Amino acid sequence: MAENYNVVEGTNLTAPEVKCPGCGGTIGIRFDPVKNTLECPFCGLSTRLPQPGEAPVVEELDFNAASQRANVNWGKIKKLVECSNCGGQTLYDAEQVTGACPYCGSTSVAPAAENAQIMAPAAIIPFAVPKDKVQDCFMNYLHRRHLVAKKAYSAVLENITALYLPFWTFDSYTISAYVQEQYYSSVGGNGYSKYFKGVWGHNFDDLIVFASDRIRHPFIARVNKFDFEKALPYSPEYLAGIPAERYTVGLNEAWERAKKQMPRIIEREIARYEKKIHGGTAMTPKYASNYYNVKYRYLLAPIYLATYKYGKQNLRVAVNGQTGEACGDVPTYLLKMILGFVALGIAMLAFYFGGLYLLHLLGIIN
Ligand SMILES: [Zn+2]
Ligand SMILES: [Zn+2]
Repeated sequence: MAENYNVVEGTNLTAPEVKCPGCGGTIGIRFDPVKNTLECPFCGLSTRLPQPGEAPVVEELDFNAASQRANVNWGKIKKLVECSNCGGQTLYDAEQVTGACPYCGSTSVAPAAENAQIMAPAAIIPFAVPKDKVQDCFMNYLHRRHLVAKKAYSAVLENITALYLPFWTFDSYTISAYVQEQYYSSVGGNGYSKYFKGVWGHNFDDLIVFASDRIRHPFIARVNKFDFEKALPYSPEYLAGIPAERYTVGLNEAWERAKKQMPRIIEREIARYEKKIHGGTAMTPKYASNYYNVKYRYLLAPIYLATYKYGKQNLRVAVNGQTGEACGDVPTYLLKMILGFVALGIAMLAFYFGGLYLLHLLGIIN
């Protein structure tokens, strides 16, 4: 923050998203920029807001206690199997035969040493795409791509495996106190800044953190946009015969990651708001946020993994089991094209210099 600035105080007292952290009321709530408090006329709560740059007050769940209290009943006995090649940890029905790792195909899988209580999911997004439609999803994907090698269109997917992936989702209401610098340029070149102080509220709903760090499948991250609104309460039938990847990113770590996502969103909103109200160029705001009402969910989301043969290669594919979005290795004729262009370029250069030489010989140029 600049050393000398004049704060134009009380700029956004009516921002609609600002709620009282005590009673949730929005009517009549007032930001006192001098005391740096939020005053609620309804319940009388005066909330001290952090000064920009100050450490936030986070009303966090005690995540350690939460994971200890969490439900570990999956409704059916599960066994945890670990791949010694990629480290993927997968939960199967106890009686299910497990041959190969669904992520890397390795057959060096064995029951994991740690078979402790594993938190059961609170919710699950069921498969909406049937297994026999996975091939079509992949073909749709190929048809939307450019420069696909013709032979790829006759690819037939093999080893189509249904799986559930683990996610954490977080909800939190945040109140941020900020100072926003707006820069105004002028014709003479003497630009100047104005500083506006305000308070901003944002309700985060279903902020998503992928809960597995072990999976090295290259395409899962490209197809993991799910509609989390359609999640249903967990019930063991959904998992009958379908393995589930175990979360390896714990609740605490996931919450730390979620907290890194939130500031970027808050920052953008403040800058956009102040620009709309005061014009100029919005600089990055200085601010601090309080987090209220932190809630989390652990849920499973559906995915298909598959492979296909292309010449001697074994190529990989992932398909979102809810939306059908696909991604995978695509053989292209790009390389052929590049080689083609290079050859053409050489031919043109030869033609050009050959022509020049000819003109020279004919005495037209020297
Ligand atoms: Zn209140
Ligand atoms: Zn593996």
